[in-house]
Amino acid sequence: MRWIFRGIKKGILTTRYPEEKPAYDEVPEIGLPVPDKCADFASAESNCPTGAIADAVDAEKCIFCGRCEDFRFKRSRTVELAEVRKALPFSKSIHVFVADVGSCNACNREVEMLNNPFYDFHRLGIFFTPTPRHADVLLVIGYPVEKTVKALLEAYDAMPEPKVVVAAGSCALSGGIFGERGIDRYIDVDVRVPGCPPPPIALLHGLLKASGR
Ligand code: SF4
Ligand code: SF4
Repeated sequence: MRWIFRGIKKGILTTRYPEEKPAYDEVPEIGLPVPDKCADFASAESNCPTGAIADAVDAEKCIFCGRCEDFRFKRSRTVELAEVRKALPFSKSIHVFVADVGSCNACNREVEMLNNPFYDFHRLGIFFTPTPRHADVLLVIGYPVEKTVKALLEAYDAMPEPKVVVAAGSCALSGGIFGERGIDRYIDVDVRVPGCPPPPIALLHGLLKASGR
């Protein structure tokens, strides 16, 4: 009974996203660093561990380590949460197969949160499936290595058409802290979700885009 009263007292806690903009604290630290006035660009560039700083900051390489903040870079929260590279074939519900090709486990933790009562991705018609045979979307996280790439390609081949690939996190997009080896060396990526790790709201945004919304 205590839990029932507690639930009634708290009311609905599920995020209103995408009907409403996510609250400020639902997008923690997603923003890319941007140079402030008088930024020491050259020093920031040489201190960036992933080579993300050139003329601007590369969202796919940035691991949000904050080292450039010492050189007058500051966080911005205006970055697009996900980027789509082609017209996608779905318009409603999707089933998602998650392929971890070598993550540090932080991306997995964010992906797991999509299932919880706060993000509750089922309300948007998005579901996990344990088999690529039933999947519309392949959600790839982590840094690709030889053996996991083999499994990734097998999973992709096993998916029925039409199918969409979402890459999430700097490891999958660019190799991140580990080097120049994103998954698009091996497979075409349709939706790109930056972050290290991407917060659940960014993953939700990417999956909604993948589902055609
Ligand atoms: S936060 Fe880190 S990885 Fe990102 S641009 Fe700054 S120094 Fe580079
Ligand atoms: S993108 Fe960042 S959080 Fe995700 S697996 Fe790579 S290092 Fe870990």
